[in-house]
Amino acid sequence: MVTIPLPPAPGAETHWSLALVNSTVSLPGGLEADELSTPAEATGWLIGHGLAPRDTELLAYCRSQLVGLRTDLRSVFAAHVDGNAPDPAALEGINRALTTVPSAVVLRYEEKTGLRRTSIHPTTRIVEHAMMQIAEDAAALLTGESASLISRCDATPCDRFLLRTHARRYWCCTRCGDRVRAARAYARRSPQRVATE
Ligand SMILES: [Zn+2]
Repeated sequence: MVTIPLPPAPGAETHWSLALVNSTVSLPGGLEADELSTPAEATGWLIGHGLAPRDTELLAYCRSQLVGLRTDLRSVFAAHVDGNAPDPAALEGINRALTTVPSAVVLRYEEKTGLRRTSIHPTTRIVEHAMMQIAEDAAALLTGESASLISRCDATPCDRFLLRTHARRYWCCTRCGDRVRAARAYARRSPQRVATE
């Protein structure tokens, strides 16, 4: 399983939606890390976040559903942080996840066990339920008391989202914080250098 070489951003351990938006990140040097790049990795991600039982195995279709929700969430989080209206299609995607009732549990009969209820596609049902929980977390976060604390990491090119823990802390981890501070120090020095040249 691919893991992003950074500790979780503040808020990502308590909010599934932040964890999902941060499951892809741009790293220095033009690198991209993606924790959901294959069905097996997406499976590991859901299990690791307590959103699926251990024996789950996602198919490509389920993985692309989860990645689609991530794209919609990233779009709506970015609009929220920038103070813009969200893309209606992205909102629609989140609402679809919120309102999808996991596939029906049907009634079956087997000679040995008699009548019993089973899901038509158990894995699809698990993924739909997981996506509903993630979308629910996002909706509560974006409209709750902490909504104004949602920020994007300031350390270019890092594009992770976080819940700000200090008024002026706009970075997702110590490593990004060092880059932000170095850039600020450089910006402070630069005008003087220009003036003396
Ligand atoms: Zn960062």
